[in-house]
Amino acid sequence: MKLQEKISADNVDSFYHWKDWEQLRAEVLRMDNHECQICKRKGRYRRADIVHHVKHLKDRPDLALSIWDGEERQLVSVCRQCHEDLHPERTVRYRYGKTVKPITEERWD
Ligand SMILES: [Zn+2]
Ligand SMILES: [Zn+2]
Repeated sequence: MKLQEKISADNVDSFYHWKDWEQLRAEVLRMDNHECQICKRKGRYRRADIVHHVKHLKDRPDLALSIWDGEERQLVSVCRQCHEDLHPERTVRYRYGKTVKPITEERWD
């Protein structure tokens, strides 16, 4: 199964132990010195532990493993709090009673 098919099939579990992603994720964090890039823009420091896909996976599965999209960053290091803000769609889900989100989902956003 190809990467894009996996993503469109919402089969994110298969990425969980995926070496390519792990390596890329580590590389992005290294590039950003483990610093949240959104907090940085606001002039504060917070440690990043999530790598966020600027263009969401479901919209642009072709960019799933690209640090750059042209001149712009496609993968950025962010802290947990900023990441929540980047995904307001999850807040909606909370309202429907699904309180626990899988770790795999975060790792892939
Ligand atoms: Zn932040
Ligand atoms: Zn994200």
